[in-house]
Amino acid sequence: MKEVYNFSAGPGVLPQPVLKKVQKELLNYKNTGMSVMELSHRSLPFQNIIKETEELFRELLSIPDDYHVLFMQGGASLQFSMIPLNLLGPGEAADYIVTGSWSKKAVKEAGKIGEIRTILGNHTSIPSYTSQNEARYIHITSNNTIEGTRYAEWPDAGGVPLVADMSSHILSEKIDVSRFGLIYAGAQKNLGPSGVTVAIIHKDLIGKAPTSCPTMLNYETYAKHGSLFNTPPTFSIYVMKLVLEWVKENGGVDGMEDRNKKKAALLYDFIDNSTLFHNGVEAEYRSLMNIPFSTNNDDLNQCFLKEAETEGLQFLKGHRSVGGMRASLYNAMPYEGVKALVHFMKNFESKQK
Ligand SMILES: *Cc1c(COP(=O)(O)O)cnc(C)c1O
Repeated sequence: MKEVYNFSAGPGVLPQPVLKKVQKELLNYKNTGMSVMELSHRSLPFQNIIKETEELFRELLSIPDDYHVLFMQGGASLQFSMIPLNLLGPGEAADYIVTGSWSKKAVKEAGKIGEIRTILGNHTSIPSYTSQNEARYIHITSNNTIEGTRYAEWPDAGGVPLVADMSSHILSEKIDVSRFGLIYAGAQKNLGPSGVTVAIIHKDLIGKAPTSCPTMLNYETYAKHGSLFNTPPTFSIYVMKLVLEWVKENGGVDGMEDRNKKKAALLYDFIDNSTLFHNGVEAEYRSLMNIPFSTNNDDLNQCFLKEAETEGLQFLKGHRSVGGMRASLYNAMPYEGVKALVHFMKNFESKQK
């Protein structure tokens, strides 16, 4: 099989050693004679899996004890609804900082439930924000997957709970969890396969939903039952555990951050010195995970994408709302993958002269 590098924005690349372990254990998980997929979520082996997943996650992110870790389904997109359903009482308003397509979607859903005030940013930087008028919470998209921007520093929340969609960069660099009321992420970018959505939520934000809130949309249900009120996405959680073990073996979040900075620098440095490719994001707001770039000519972009694919550089097409190209350099993307991309870009550029 030819070597392929997967630059997809999501579901994204998974570490090879993790996939090999999944393969090895697939038919017989720890001498149960069964696959993880066939294990009851009430069985001891699965209870151990979910417990160890939570413990590892807490350890890697130094999550303080007064936070719950919840495993849910429905993706980050369901969180867009769950957050206001749980947190926004009658007469209360929330502030949403809009920095891209995903923030817009979060606003759209929250607006169906309560009063939302928006602070509008652009696609090449992050607006500054200081909380002024009583907001119930402040919502941010901490890394903008489509636009390739990320926060250089967290907004000044002034004691108001900060809620962050970290889907596309959780575990990619150190964060101080105590700055947040709620952090959430769909797993399929940096944590594991699709199917599981993780939230880190301060205990003070649990149990605030109105009694009319459906059981499965209430954070309290997950917190009370250790995310085992109903059947959780067992296989996804199992793979997430293996991904977390891989992160730990590779230097933890510090190790990831180090490697991610080197990977991103390699690509940004090349783009900034290129006469063909450009990236319009202001330097301090550049994402380490999602790097959009383009030539000035759409036919040339198409040609680039086609040739890249035959070279095994996959899923480099930019989001349809932005066009051009985008390289997603999630934790599991090896440095060699970025080197191969830059090498290809160099050759492509020299052929245009
Ligand atoms: C991918 C993504 C989403 C959507 O996630 P789903 O799990 O597909 O609902 C939301 N927010 C951000 C920042 C994303 O990158």
